Amino acid sequence: MKTLRLILGDQLNIKHSWFKTVDKNVTYCMFEMRQETDYVKHHIQKVIGFFVAMRQFSEDLKSEGHNIIYYNINDESNTQDLTKNLKTLIEDHKIKRFEYLFPEEFRLDKQLRDFCKTIDIETQNISAEHFYTERDDLAKFYEGKKQWVMEKFYRDMREKHDILMNAGQPEGGKWNYDKSNRNKWKGEPEIPTYKYFKNDVADVIEDINTAEIKTMGSLNTKTFPYPITRAQALDQLKFFCEHLLIHFGDYQDALHTDEEFLFHSRISFAMNLKLVGPKDVVTTVLNYYRQHSDAIDISQVEGFIRQIIGWREYMRGMYWAFMPDYKTENQLKNNNALADFFWTGDTKMNCLKHAITNSLENGYAHHIQRLMITGNYALLTMTDPDEVDAWYLGIYVDAIEWVQLTNTRGMSQFADGGKIATKPYVSSGSYINKMSNYCQDCHYKKTKKVGDDACPFNSLYWNFLDEKRDMLGNNFRMGMMYSLLDKMDPKDLRAMKKRAQHIIEHQDEY
Ligand code: FAD
Ligand code: SF4
Repeated sequence: MKTLRLILGDQLNIKHSWFKTVDKNVTYCMFEMRQETDYVKHHIQKVIGFFVAMRQFSEDLKSEGHNIIYYNINDESNTQDLTKNLKTLIEDHKIKRFEYLFPEEFRLDKQLRDFCKTIDIETQNISAEHFYTERDDLAKFYEGKKQWVMEKFYRDMREKHDILMNAGQPEGGKWNYDKSNRNKWKGEPEIPTYKYFKNDVADVIEDINTAEIKTMGSLNTKTFPYPITRAQALDQLKFFCEHLLIHFGDYQDALHTDEEFLFHSRISFAMNLKLVGPKDVVTTVLNYYRQHSDAIDISQVEGFIRQIIGWREYMRGMYWAFMPDYKTENQLKNNNALADFFWTGDTKMNCLKHAITNSLENGYAHHIQRLMITGNYALLTMTDPDEVDAWYLGIYVDAIEWVQLTNTRGMSQFADGGKIATKPYVSSGSYINKMSNYCQDCHYKKTKKVGDDACPFNSLYWNFLDEKRDMLGNNFRMGMMYSLLDKMDPKDLRAMKKRAQHIIEHQDEY
């Protein structure tokens, strides 16, 4: 009986049980498609990264003896549409059974479910065998609860999987070292030269050019710097353990003009394509820590583990719990346009210039750049979450909807009204100055609230609180800020609101 098995671009899990045995009756298929390159404008490095990793994966399967049909973006037989490609293959190869792995995206999940209803052969979908949790575990965990606070889920994950636990208690005596993860980086400790892979992508670039795929951002060399195989991903992890883990937690929230990556792992692309799984990552980091616990503090390790078994699994669970409605949430009723400089980095605001330039050049920004610089600004300027999503979904090499949408619309833009974050992540210039050196060489003065040279974040911040009082005034975590706002001289507030309005209406002059 002939079986066709589909492998999507973010399902490159060579450890999946599918691949344990070679079965001559099974044919795998993989497609590079316009359907995927065009649903949003992606960063050039993202398209390159997906194609080169997919091509390598198909070569690896082939060399192990598996049958595989691979459609290059410019192949004549490629219809550029997932279900049309599948239908043709099923007919041409007289396929009797179709199998696929659960997609991570609602859009693809629906497309494949609908497709299966239209074909009259056996079909089956199974787990992609990547995450710790199944899609609906999180919703079951919080059933009946009003607030789905991540910390509760995270502690449960620690206990359930016996991670950093000691006789039923959190190792080191604390569940969470978040408060010690807030150091500013001032040139020390030294950051080693990053691990850049030199994956040759000249052919892929040529194919993308031939297909005339519209992309954003740049790649200065013909090599792709992020891991594209499991071996490379493990190599990157090793580098992280040996050189970066020791300071990861301390400088997790830091920002600096000279160091885009600081002590971050840059493992998200490899993980999101499933080149390595979260269990690989957690095991590798914990093993390293056990061997070097005299040198590495638990707060560094806990900070990292929390991102993987906490935030990453939580975001995926939230995505499946609330889609498809989540994608249209706009509870703060924000409708302004995204500033044009998000596509160029051409702004006098030094913090935004660095965060956006880093994103355009590397298809990367670390969490605090995404949350407290670009995300903060987009929210303070009351930008339409659809526009914010389109930017975040396109620009990062690791952006796949299940993790992008929940982080952007939820955590960063508070468009879900607080399902993910207990308060909006907004700040004036003082937080940015506390965590970075951006303000030192900025055109604007970080402490000034009004006047041509005043930091735009200051007036935008107070204007935002004032404008959104109806929706945020009762949020207990915002109480202190609203009482400060209430004590403000109305004349000062009026002046700040005037400046904020000008910024919002003339964003590209700033
Ligand atoms: P590190 O700082 O080294 O962290 C290690 C790993 O933890 C990451 O690789 C990632 O897998 C995981 N992680 C950390 N924070 C989160 C989080 N909030 N949610 C889920 N996983 C997390 N991450 C994506 O993978 N894809 C996205 O499209 C994405 N969009 C984001 C948009 C916004 C507005 C924000 C605020 C965050 C977004 N994140 C996204 C989360 C986070 O910023 C990235 O995972 C991280 O910057 C990737 O870099 P790194 O591998 O060096 O991470
Ligand atoms: Fe950003 Fe304001 Fe600091 Fe300039 S002064 S870097 S605009 S926070």
